[in-house]
Amino acid sequence: LTENLRNLALEPATTQDGVVIPVYANSGLLADINPSKQSGADGIGLYRTEVPFMVRDRFPSEEEQIGLYREILASFDPRPVTLRTLDVGGDKALPYFPVKEDNPFLGWRGIRITLDHPEIFLTQLRAMLRASQGLNNLNILFPMISSLAELKGAQRLLQRAREELLDEHYVIPMPKVGVMVEVPSAVYLAEALARRVDFLSVGSNDLIQYLLAVDRNNTRVAELYNALHPSVLHALQQVTDGARKAGKPVSICGEMAADPAAAILLIGMGIDSLSVNVASLARVKWVIRSFSQERAQELLAQCMEMEEPAAIRALLNNALVQAG
Ligand code: PEP
Ligand code: MG
Repeated sequence: LTENLRNLALEPATTQDGVVIPVYANSGLLADINPSKQSGADGIGLYRTEVPFMVRDRFPSEEEQIGLYREILASFDPRPVTLRTLDVGGDKALPYFPVKEDNPFLGWRGIRITLDHPEIFLTQLRAMLRASQGLNNLNILFPMISSLAELKGAQRLLQRAREELLDEHYVIPMPKVGVMVEVPSAVYLAEALARRVDFLSVGSNDLIQYLLAVDRNNTRVAELYNALHPSVLHALQQVTDGARKAGKPVSICGEMAADPAAAILLIGMGIDSLSVNVASLARVKWVIRSFSQERAQELLAQCMEMEEPAAIRALLNNALVQAG
C-alpha cells in the first residue's frame, strides 16, 4: 500500500475529467533538490535566486552562479526549472547590499533594483543562460513587474546578455520568459504582459498583501490576510482570463496554491500549473485528482457570487470532505 501511495505521489496529477495539471516545487536551496524530486515535483516552478545570494558575504560571481543554476537545471532536465531573477528588498535583505527605507515593500525591491543595476542583472542573466547550455528546460521569471516599461527594460537586458554570449561563441538555447503577477497594477495589465512573454506566474503572497493592504509578515493584521477574499478571487479571475485571451499559460507560485480550498478555485479558473512548497506537493496532487475541472468550475461560480470569505471557505471545505 505504501508503495502504491508513493507511486501515486510520483505520477502527474490529472483531474477526474482528464485535465493534467503539473505541480511544481518552490525552491531556493540546492538541499531542496532531492526532496522535491522524491516527492514527485513535475519540475521547479519557482527558484528564488536571492536565497543563495543571502547566505553569502558578497555578490556571487558569474561562474559561481553558473554552478548553482546548472546543478538544479541538470538535475531536473527535461522537466522545467523556473529561475526567478533577484528579488531583494522588501523583507529580503542582502547583508552586503543594505537598503534602508521607511516602506520597504513599497520601495526599491525586485526588478526595480536590478533595472537600476544592470551590471548585477546582466551577470545573473548571463549565468542563467550559460548554465542552460546543452539543456532545454530553463524558464526565466521577472519579479515585481508593475508596468510594461519595466518588462521591456528587463527583456532588453536579457536580449543584451544573450547577444553578448552569442558574440562570445556560446551556443545558448532561447529560454522561456515569464512575468510574476504580484503587484495589483499587473493584474490589470495581465493580457498585455502575457502577449509579450511566454507565461505568467501569480505570486499570491505579495499580491494578497498589496491588494488587501496587509503586511504579509505582520501578525497583528494576520487575520485580515485572506486568500479567499472576494477581491483576491476577482483579481485571479482577471489574470487567468487575460492570459487565456493572449493564448499564454498561467501558473501560481504563492502559498495560496498549497491551500486545498483555494486550489479547487484555481483549477476552476483554468490555471495551467501550480507551484508549491515540497511539503504540500502530495496534498495538492490529491486535490487535483479528487475533482473534475467541471465540478471545480461549478464551485468557483458559486464562490464568485459570495461576499464572505468564511462562507466561501465553508463551502469549499464541505466539498473537500465530500471528496474524501
Ligand atoms: C509571492 O509573492 O507569492 C512569491 C511567490 O514570491 P515571494 O514569496 O518570494 O515574494
Ligand atoms: Mg513575491
